[in-house]
Amino acid sequence: MDHEDYMRQALDLAREAMEAGEVPVGCVVVWEGRVVGRGRNRREEDRDALAHAELMAIHEANETLGGWRLHKADLYVTLEPCAMCAGGIVNARIPRVWYGAADSRFGACGSALDVFSAPLNHRPQVTGGILAEESAALMQAFFQRLREKRRKPAAPCCNETKGDDLMEFQYEDSRIFLPDGKGGVLAEITFPDGADGVPVIDHTFVDGSLRGQGVAGRLMEAAVAALRASGRRANVTCSYAVSWRDKHPEAADVLL
Ligand SMILES: [Zn+2]
Repeated sequence: MDHEDYMRQALDLAREAMEAGEVPVGCVVVWEGRVVGRGRNRREEDRDALAHAELMAIHEANETLGGWRLHKADLYVTLEPCAMCAGGIVNARIPRVWYGAADSRFGACGSALDVFSAPLNHRPQVTGGILAEESAALMQAFFQRLREKRRKPAAPCCNETKGDDLMEFQYEDSRIFLPDGKGGVLAEITFPDGADGVPVIDHTFVDGSLRGQGVAGRLMEAAVAALRASGRRANVTCSYAVSWRDKHPEAADVLL
């Protein structure tokens, strides 16, 4: 087995993550030629910010070998490790890291930051670019699929009939709105990504001429349906959205 063979096993795990609706990242830990730990991203399924592929694989390797110290291991991961996972690799004393695609946003092996060149007691050797195109193509396919899902309009969900014919919501990636036909908006809700990549419902607006028709509630329902369709959850900061959430426990799978 060479480096590419092990990376192919990591890519298989990344594909498994993608099928489960997760950002596709996979990882294997190899000890003297034997795969002793496998992991893939499970952040959404486990609702756990720490459930990255590398930490999962390190955890499994520790269990397989019955010890925390992986001082003879090679770790293969499809995407450049983040700061948290680079820290995990250091703590596990893994001497060699092989990754696929670089990650300009969170990569901590030289892209966004370089943990392994810091003056720590343990410095792994790191080599990037192993089957990088396959890994990058997988990431692109995942985010493309996500964007297409998000664009799909949500089914209307509403018991009110008054004014429904006029309620032609328009959908964008992180915004749903009702145009006034003159370039402005009569109502809107926005849910941009926060600093941690989790969407935030941060703004709802309804024009005075539409008050009392339940439009804000319908915007909330539309936003929840759109987020649910794309398998995403959202934080809520807008005060209207906070009070709506408290009255709609059925949306608890989407609203944090
Ligand atoms: Zn990570």
